[in-house]
Amino acid sequence: MSKKRVTFIPGDGIGPEVSASSRKVIEAMNVPIQWEDHIAGEAAFVKGYETGVPTETLESMKSTRCVLKGPLGTPVGYGNKSANVTLRKLAETYANIRPVREWPNVPTPFKGRGIDITVVRENIEDLYAGVEHQQSPGVFHALKMISEKGCEKIARFAFETARAEGRKKVTCASKSNIMKMTEGTLKRVFERVAPEYPDIVAEHMIVDNCAHQLAKKPEQFDVILFTNMNGDVLSDLTSGLIGGLGFAPSANIGKDIAIFEAVHGSAPKYAGKNNINPTAHMMSAVMMLRYLGFLTEADKMENAIYATYEQGKFLPRDVVGDAKGCKTTDFTDAVIKNLGNKASSIQARNFKQIKVPEIRADIDYVKAKSRSVAGIDLFVEWNKSAEELAKSLENVAGNGALKLKGISNRGTQVWPSTGAQPDLVDCFSCRFVARNDNASVSDSDVVDLLQKLNTKHTWTHIEKLNVFDGKIGYSKAQGES
Ligand code: NAP
Repeated sequence: MSKKRVTFIPGDGIGPEVSASSRKVIEAMNVPIQWEDHIAGEAAFVKGYETGVPTETLESMKSTRCVLKGPLGTPVGYGNKSANVTLRKLAETYANIRPVREWPNVPTPFKGRGIDITVVRENIEDLYAGVEHQQSPGVFHALKMISEKGCEKIARFAFETARAEGRKKVTCASKSNIMKMTEGTLKRVFERVAPEYPDIVAEHMIVDNCAHQLAKKPEQFDVILFTNMNGDVLSDLTSGLIGGLGFAPSANIGKDIAIFEAVHGSAPKYAGKNNINPTAHMMSAVMMLRYLGFLTEADKMENAIYATYEQGKFLPRDVVGDAKGCKTTDFTDAVIKNLGNKASSIQARNFKQIKVPEIRADIDYVKAKSRSVAGIDLFVEWNKSAEELAKSLENVAGNGALKLKGISNRGTQVWPSTGAQPDLVDCFSCRFVARNDNASVSDSDVVDLLQKLNTKHTWTHIEKLNVFDGKIGYSKAQGES
């Protein structure tokens, strides 16, 4: 068999220790893999690569199409963007898979409940895209971008994951009751795609209830599908159910490139101490072997890890505490010794190789039969009352094509008054609509208003109120009729 090439990124903090463990076990099985060693993250930032991802690393990824990486450190709240997110986005790995399963000899409050869940999280879109703007000195916005195409890809991926893992149910958990357009699209697309998978039960759950159910009765779940941000948070919760981040592997899968890594970060306080749990990274490597088609080797490695836990001779620090925890390298050697052994209480399930859904390469241009613009939402910086702002804006608008319909502040209508008295901030969203009912607002109508406004107000942001096929494409403020 010809060797499969894999880009190997050791990572930051504890990264080099956990990724060396996985590589050592894979090499002990003589899996025909040719590693290409590259850097990313802090190691790249300090060398002056602003994105944290050197061109050579990217070129290697494009050529090998498979990456095994350690965690990368990200500056929190300042400086460079996350190199992890950059890697995932550049590789367009739209699906993030995070399986969790109860481990032998790992005590948790849920022990014996049979937790066995795979989280499938959309990995590109949503708030996680990190598109943020400061609107005024005191107000910040983030763009929650969700597309039909993105939802279709991830919904199909969740069903394909269920099939590959021999599972019976996919639960789509979304906040579609509140964010009807963004989160609602995932629910709608999920329900549209579900009948194509009659062998899998499809259900929807509001995401906050899903969090509640995960804490209350986690054994009810099989595969759970989330948008990016919800999945980010709740997959850490699922990790907590079975023993913590030391046991949480993940795969980031795209059409061309797949990246395998533990869910955990670089845990800098443990770096170089040889006491960190490499299980999450090893299980990510198992997922990589399966993805590459080394199904037998993947089962062998997974079963050896289970056997090591069942024997209980070498248990990591996060399971038995600092004093009794074994060395990372001793745990790794115990897994290598167990290659060929199986635990009696748990074994690798019968996996098939996943069928990654076909993705159209063209731009997903959803054609609307009819379209019009009902008006605009104009975000204006303002530090006086809503009534004063309304008076001034009505003066500015005069008898032009657009008239002021309402003003909201942080999503609640404040003019005309609904009686609510929300705590105001210095960015007001002002809704202008066509003066003549049913007229479509033109770009020149908007430019005309902006020109008149420019001398009197500081506007920061504008959104068109689109209507596609007769359906309004915007939300209403709380209290707006
Ligand atoms: P973290 O590195 O995941 O560590 C948080 C805590 O999780 C640790 O203090 C430790 O808990 C536990 N933990 C993590 N890995 C473990 C392991 N292998 N075995 C046992 N316990 C483990 O999260 P963070 O401290 O918030 O983030 C540190 C850096 O990593 C940040 O720069 C962050 O941006 C980055 N990060 C990278 C990735 C990635 O590369 N995919 C993911 C997340 C975070 P105890 O202290 O209780 O033992």
